[in-house]
Amino acid sequence: MTSNIARVALPVPLDKTFDYLIKTGSSPVVGGRVKVPFGRQQLVGIVIEITDKSDFPIAQLKPIYTVIDQAPLWTSPLFSLLSWASNYYQYPLGDTLANSMPGLLRKGREASAGTLKYWALTEAGRDQPITALKRAPRQVQVLNILRNGNCRHEALLAEEISSATLKTLVDKGWITELQEKPRLVDWHKHFAVTEEKPRLNEEQALTIATINANPEFGCYLLEGVTGSGKTEVYLNALEPILAAGKQALILVPEIGLTPQTINRFRRRFNVPLETVHSGLNDTERLSSWLAGRDNQAGIIIGTRSALFTPFHNLGIIIVDEEHDASYKQQDSLRYHARDLAVMRANKENIPIVLGSATPALESLHNAKTGKYHHLHLTRRAGNAQSARHGVLDVKGLYLDAGLSAPLIAQMRKHLTAGNQVILFLNRRGFSPAMICHECGWLAECDRCDAYYTLHQQSGELRCHHCGTQRPIMHQCNSCGSTQLNAVGVGTEQLEQQLATLFPEYKTVRIDRDSTRRKGSLEDYLEAIKNNEYQILIGTQMLAKGHHFPNVTLVSLIDVDSALFSNDFRASERLAQLFIQVAGRAGRASKPGEVLLQTHHPEHALLQALLHKGYDNFADNALIERKEALLPPYTHLALFRSEANNSDHVCQLLQQIRGIFESSPLFNQDTFIMGPNPAPLARRAGRYRWQLLLQAPDRKTLQRMLAIAKPAIQLLPLAKKVRWSIDVEPQDL
Ligand code: ADP
Ligand code: ZN
Ligand code: ZN
Repeated sequence: MTSNIARVALPVPLDKTFDYLIKTGSSPVVGGRVKVPFGRQQLVGIVIEITDKSDFPIAQLKPIYTVIDQAPLWTSPLFSLLSWASNYYQYPLGDTLANSMPGLLRKGREASAGTLKYWALTEAGRDQPITALKRAPRQVQVLNILRNGNCRHEALLAEEISSATLKTLVDKGWITELQEKPRLVDWHKHFAVTEEKPRLNEEQALTIATINANPEFGCYLLEGVTGSGKTEVYLNALEPILAAGKQALILVPEIGLTPQTINRFRRRFNVPLETVHSGLNDTERLSSWLAGRDNQAGIIIGTRSALFTPFHNLGIIIVDEEHDASYKQQDSLRYHARDLAVMRANKENIPIVLGSATPALESLHNAKTGKYHHLHLTRRAGNAQSARHGVLDVKGLYLDAGLSAPLIAQMRKHLTAGNQVILFLNRRGFSPAMICHECGWLAECDRCDAYYTLHQQSGELRCHHCGTQRPIMHQCNSCGSTQLNAVGVGTEQLEQQLATLFPEYKTVRIDRDSTRRKGSLEDYLEAIKNNEYQILIGTQMLAKGHHFPNVTLVSLIDVDSALFSNDFRASERLAQLFIQVAGRAGRASKPGEVLLQTHHPEHALLQALLHKGYDNFADNALIERKEALLPPYTHLALFRSEANNSDHVCQLLQQIRGIFESSPLFNQDTFIMGPNPAPLARRAGRYRWQLLLQAPDRKTLQRMLAIAKPAIQLLPLAKKVRWSIDVEPQDL
């Protein structure tokens, strides 16, 4: 009997595979794509198995239309990782595989490169001494990049090189455009370290020796304050790997993929480097995927989805800022890229380095229990000094747009000395609500359980949850009064008030509103570095990945909203933000100062953080988590449901609860909480509820989910209500 049946995973929300007949003469492969009929549609699916048996009568099976791939799309460790992720995160295999590949492959495009636009140096460009161009740093940058080899047009744009810069260089006759099929390069043959390396300090040397001692799987948690030389450790850890012809994957948070970061890797090694991030179009995404697979990139740096890049010969994974919340995907396949990266390193049998100044409590727990090796960098490289810090007790003080008089006085002192000041406030807009002074009515979004945020600059009320916007009203909807007041302070209001308080200094605001235009964040950061602004206002966007040597005062102006939040991770995030910003400010000759405004200066967490540092805070926070039976000491799965009918939403979760309660695994160590309304109980007109399942260990949680899921899928309501499972949710 010949094996003429292919079991195919399709991108449909069903936990099963589908059988198709293989036409004689065609030869699909396991792990390759096929196009098949599905109802009235044609879908692209992945062959999971080739067999001679089916649970269905052979006569009923339909044939495969087209075999797309002659070879599997993934290497076996990566394919095994994806199946593992599908199981672990309770997301159908077909959808998981589809999600992990570039859009063009999902649509059935050939998995090989078409022609692309490249830039190359001309003879004249090659002979050009770089020093002649001191005044045109962008042009120098282009020439430097092209000296390492031809570069794709998109890759240059991603470095914030403008078309105008390229045109200038073309007009000078130094560079030229090429259209070509990417030629396969053997980068390994030319591998070299292309810049002088700093002399490592003892800690760095020890750390690197530990990581490089064993080319097999090992997870290294590298804890070191900002500026302690973590990136230098990554670079050194990469060197022998690249020298051996193996590739490196570097994951960075969404905001961390800056030209500065990329350039450090480019400068150090002459290997082709690709980036993967949300700004790529379909063609670019496919081309970096192929570059990984075909060994056309030695280094791939990217945000979370870069984890799914196939590699010809992966040798190491680095996860920078491993505590960052952007590593968790919040919809469809709700994976945590850090955790999945550790699993990938395990399957590929290679080392992985998780770096952070403020490791996630989960990671510290794994280090303490011996699962990860804990490595420390305790000194700032060079001779930068740590910032001083303190709290400002604002109890009873008048707050002017959220600023106390002592803070304003401190700001003046630092500004007068010619330095810059950063104020952090994690709230966009002018104010988070608008209230009627006569009757107390609040302007509320019609579609959500949330107040409108006032955006004075654009003259709008905006709902930050569903995106609805409307003009600011001038009369109360309830009593008709015209006395409508803003309540609370957002970044926009702070900006406006600072212009009044400090008219002699220039203020810049960095948040999602002010940096909507592509490249504007980079422009602002450049201007800040050039001292064009003295007062910087930012949400946490400003805290990550940038160093501001002229900033000497940093203030978190609203610490209390994090200290008293419902989210059990809020205090961990506050501590991380604090350490991050403390590390961003100052330099050797200008030590920084960090001030926290709070009504609760005695708060145990603040005290631990201020006087004993992050590790002490983390120890205490872990004890608290243990006592409260919270992660990492227990494991959670969050069920969410939403629909226009609020009864259905709640009933579905009731029924899911029932399924768990009747499970043989349900005992006194497992808990179910809910159904409860979600923190935002209505969004865009839909009601939202949630149910939290807690188990003492990962295995129990996984087994309970695996048993319950088929039963849940049979519930009639499960077809009417949109619902999801989030395994190890980050936001509750
Ligand atoms: P981190 O990634 O921990 O923030 P970096 O690796 O960026 O730290 O190092 C901070 C700064 O110190 C960088 O400018 C880097 O070039 C420099 N640096 C790192 N290690 C050394 C060293 N051993 N000697 C001199 N300078 C160093
Ligand atoms: Zn009113
Ligand atoms: Zn809304």
